[in-house]
Amino acid sequence: MIFVCIMWMLGDDGVLKAPAMSRLELLQQQALHHNRAFDILESLTVEVGPRMAGTSHDLRGVQWAKHKFEELGFDEVWLEQAQYPSWIRGEATCEIVDPFPQPLAVTALGTSVATLDDGVTAQVVSFENLDALKSADPLEVSGKIVFINQAMERSNTGRGYGKAVVVRRSGASEAARKGALAVLIRSIGTDSHRFPHTGLQRYDEDTEQIPAAALSNPDANQLQLALKRGPVTLRLFLSARKGPMFSSFNVIGEIKGREVPEELVLLGAHLDSWDLGTGALDDGAGVAIVTEVGRLISNMRERPRRTIRVVLFANEEQGLWGAKAYAAQHESELNRHMIAAESDFGAGPVWHFTTAVREKALPFMHQVAEALKPLGVDMGDNNSYGGPDLRPMMELGLPVVSLIQDGTDYFDYHHTADDTLDKVDPKALSQSVAAFATFAYMCAETDVTFSDEHIHE
Ligand SMILES: [Zn+2]
Repeated sequence: MIFVCIMWMLGDDGVLKAPAMSRLELLQQQALHHNRAFDILESLTVEVGPRMAGTSHDLRGVQWAKHKFEELGFDEVWLEQAQYPSWIRGEATCEIVDPFPQPLAVTALGTSVATLDDGVTAQVVSFENLDALKSADPLEVSGKIVFINQAMERSNTGRGYGKAVVVRRSGASEAARKGALAVLIRSIGTDSHRFPHTGLQRYDEDTEQIPAAALSNPDANQLQLALKRGPVTLRLFLSARKGPMFSSFNVIGEIKGREVPEELVLLGAHLDSWDLGTGALDDGAGVAIVTEVGRLISNMRERPRRTIRVVLFANEEQGLWGAKAYAAQHESELNRHMIAAESDFGAGPVWHFTTAVREKALPFMHQVAEALKPLGVDMGDNNSYGGPDLRPMMELGLPVVSLIQDGTDYFDYHHTADDTLDKVDPKALSQSVAAFATFAYMCAETDVTFSDEHIHE
């Protein structure tokens, strides 16, 4: 009886047949017509708020997630440890000392060291971009505060971020190499508000560690205009510092598959956020989307064949620590992970679908794309980036898809005090839930395998 039923629901190419497809339509309707993901997001951003890794808020986020999974009826919920060095933001101030004394809006970059107690006061040398700094004469830079004024371009894909973020990541070490005392960057963001954007920077091992901070975009403009009028002296004060090693957790919840529970479809998002806002977009929205998909599928009259595993990763922002811990802890059973998707690009809506699967699985992925079409999602190539937390597993061969959300406004708020719940449109969030649910259900219902490494065949 069961055998007949399966034969009817799966064609020989793994394509899903009528009963599974009508269940999928119902799932999509349930996703679209409720704002449950928004409720989850409101709960996270109000009851926990900011969740910077290495703080007590980080652990409150873990407890919140564990209880939320349990409350929503996930079959199994557990924590897996992830350890990382912590960093303490402290205070940050910046002001033009001469010739036009006035304060500028600034924030420290993640992992930055402090200035001296009375700050660093020095003349500013400005560069249009990182390459200009790299090719500068050290005599021009030595003993000064370097200002890198590279602007980020707006796009729905966020492609401007990749180009601009190298300034944040490497600006301090490039400036230190030329003898600079500190580095200030124009925020990596597309807004014109007075909110500086924080984010991770990294010191190279062979250079001195100098203080690193970001000015808001209007303040970067202001400094540039002051510099047009002649030499400018700035004072920058940061009390940022390293904290102790910290133990937190990846939070994992499962909806068990009805037939092959050992085969997993993984949905990921990161639980940590930066501390300036409440992390509603980055990545509270992702947490809410994948959690709501889990809830919806757990409530289906008939569960899909495979298990849905939702992973809320620890400390993505300061170096993918939770993702690396997960990949290390699950390396020996990675072949149980059939496929994965991550939501870490704000609150949607999803408009584009890309894959990174073996050639033989593409006809099935076209069927997924067909089911996504009514949601306004088009099909892209087979070169999916996956998501930041999926990268360590992708390096070990994990197949992935990307359900790419519209990021036109994402970098107006990203890593700022302005990343708050009011920026989220509940309807767009629900559309993202419908898209992620479509992918998760279809990939959990089929017997198609997505990697040549995988079991079967
Ligand atoms: Zn993120």
